[in-house]
Amino acid sequence: MCKRAIYPGSFDPVTYGHIDLIKRALEIFPELIVAVAHNPQKKPLFSVKERIGMLKRATSDIKGVMVDDFNGLVVDYGHKKKINVIIRGLRMLSDFEYEFQMALTNRKLSPDIETIFLMPQESYSYLSSKLLKEAASLGADLSAFVPDFVGKALKKKLSEAK
Ligand code: ADP
Repeated sequence: MCKRAIYPGSFDPVTYGHIDLIKRALEIFPELIVAVAHNPQKKPLFSVKERIGMLKRATSDIKGVMVDDFNGLVVDYGHKKKINVIIRGLRMLSDFEYEFQMALTNRKLSPDIETIFLMPQESYSYLSSKLLKEAASLGADLSAFVPDFVGKALKKKLSEAK
């Protein structure tokens, strides 16, 4: 049995939804690598270094988490790390089509790697980094969605971007 899994994503920035999923994954696997994708085509708000820094801080009290980054295909990263399980989250039906396509594409590329989907606590099932950024730009209170330091970093970044 694989003792480690990879949780890849943009994490732009990390939210309580991601953290909920990390904790659930660690109920199944003793070790989890949270892998930040470089994906410049998604035009992330935060740099990879900033996203890693926030993830490390947000997960500092969770045992078994490692934070890393990767370029290119997640299946190649899995091979490099000798890990054959990818964790992804399913929030709403709207996630399904994209996640389904991606999981099957990854399976085609690399049949030895399995994708496992986890569902967050209901209260996080509508939470996304994208909506969070919109809410932050409109001055919303973010305390229910992200740790305080992430909310501050987000507001600072958005004000710099103006
Ligand atoms: P990506 O650009 O790879 O979709 P995200 O950081 O948006 O990166 O999401 C990474 C993974 O975490 C995806 O599988 C996504 O469905 C999941 N995820 C994001 N937000 C939540 C949430 N609130 N609850 C559960 N899963 C989530």
